[in-house]
Amino acid sequence: MKVFKFGGASVKDAAGIKNLTNIVSKEKGNLVIVVSAFGKTTNALEKVLKAWLEGDKNYSDNLDNIYSYHASVIDDLFPSGKRAKEDLDDSYAILREYLRTTKKSGYDFEYDQVVSYGEIWSTIIVAEYLVKSGLDAKWVDIKKWLLTDDRHRDANILWDESTKRIRKAFDFSNSTQYVTQGFIGATKTGHSTTLGREGSDYTAAILANMLDAECVVVWKDVPGLLNADPRWMPDARKLDEMSYREAVEMTFSGAKVIHPKTIKPLHNKDIPLYVKSFISPEGEGTIVKSDPAINKVLPVFIRKEEQILISFLPNDFSFVMGDCLGRIFHSFIKHGIKVNLVEASAISIDVCVDDERSKVEALLSELEPEYSAFYNDGVEIFTIRHYTPEAITRITSGREIMLEQRTRSTVRFVVRKAQWPNGSTAQR
Ligand code: ADP
Ligand code: ASP
Ligand code: MG
Repeated sequence: MKVFKFGGASVKDAAGIKNLTNIVSKEKGNLVIVVSAFGKTTNALEKVLKAWLEGDKNYSDNLDNIYSYHASVIDDLFPSGKRAKEDLDDSYAILREYLRTTKKSGYDFEYDQVVSYGEIWSTIIVAEYLVKSGLDAKWVDIKKWLLTDDRHRDANILWDESTKRIRKAFDFSNSTQYVTQGFIGATKTGHSTTLGREGSDYTAAILANMLDAECVVVWKDVPGLLNADPRWMPDARKLDEMSYREAVEMTFSGAKVIHPKTIKPLHNKDIPLYVKSFISPEGEGTIVKSDPAINKVLPVFIRKEEQILISFLPNDFSFVMGDCLGRIFHSFIKHGIKVNLVEASAISIDVCVDDERSKVEALLSELEPEYSAFYNDGVEIFTIRHYTPEAITRITSGREIMLEQRTRSTVRFVVRKAQWPNGSTAQR
């Protein structure tokens, strides 16, 4: 069996779902189809959540707009059928009732209860359209089978228990194709969880691992993995193959084409990953697998935006590499801040993290008694794998470099963003 994953861009309208149907109808073997929320629905649901939590009655209008969007896709796909509409209405009514009656809990918990509906709605519609098109497809509610802990918005999979359940749910005894949700799962107590933004790729890899899939194909709006984001470097070129290791480095460094957690479950079972275009499905795409001859000719450019560079200095002049390191990193973990780059000297340590201001402020307050901290916002990290002098010039020319790291294969620059909206550089 194979796992196919379709992201928001591929299912943003009726034409996208017809295209998906065309792609999966060519597949003769057993298939699990993982689908994200339509278009930008997750962002729209985040706005609903925010308004609701703030007691702003407009949340209801925002939700109506999301409903109308889904209803109009149904109208385009099923001019005479009512079933998909009824199922959408039922699910929507449950969410409305939840928002009307529930006593609000914390942001992360409520995020998962509300935002996870995007994937439920998209899969209801896709599954019913596949059936209408004559395919042997069955809708699966992944929340019944994929268990996670209760770390809301960044939940961890409970692997052993989930594997047993997933093998039962996707046993292909009653169907050759299953349609299910990316990005979401549930706790043992039945509360929805999410795996982190853009997490549907990760779901595809998790299911592939648990079901010992032959391969995973993620269908994207690009011909495959390129040596840079084409939105930023229009002359980016496709890489035909890539090792798991290269893919992890690239995605962790900031290439927003596949979720970085996707690679581990595939690597661990040696399952190849294909990145292909849903616009030109016949194209070869990129294959990510173990140990191909790594492309050392083409530099790979990665940009990670919206970073903060923080420098810590122990007030008592302790060496950073001793006890301080553990103390500082413990605080990062405690505040849920992911560290993207570290550079240390005798009595100072520089750390680059995502610009999540409230978390960073809380961390700095906690460390303030022992450390002087300075930070620069409005910075970004550029990574070049397999760099050349020309590649470095292309990235650094005309930019203020705040930090540089170089190994034999990789160079990284922390630079000030060229046009930061308010030009702000806060310092403490
Ligand atoms: P999905 O629809 O599955 O969520 P995304 O939109 O998240 O897909 O990912 C596809 C996008 O990733 C492309 O449109 C492209 O702009 C961006 N991207 C960033 N880095 C790369 C890269 N190295 N190769 C290909 N695409 C990239
Ligand atoms: N819908 C979720 C998001 O937009 C998950 C995904 O698309 O992968 O983040
Ligand atoms: Mg995505």
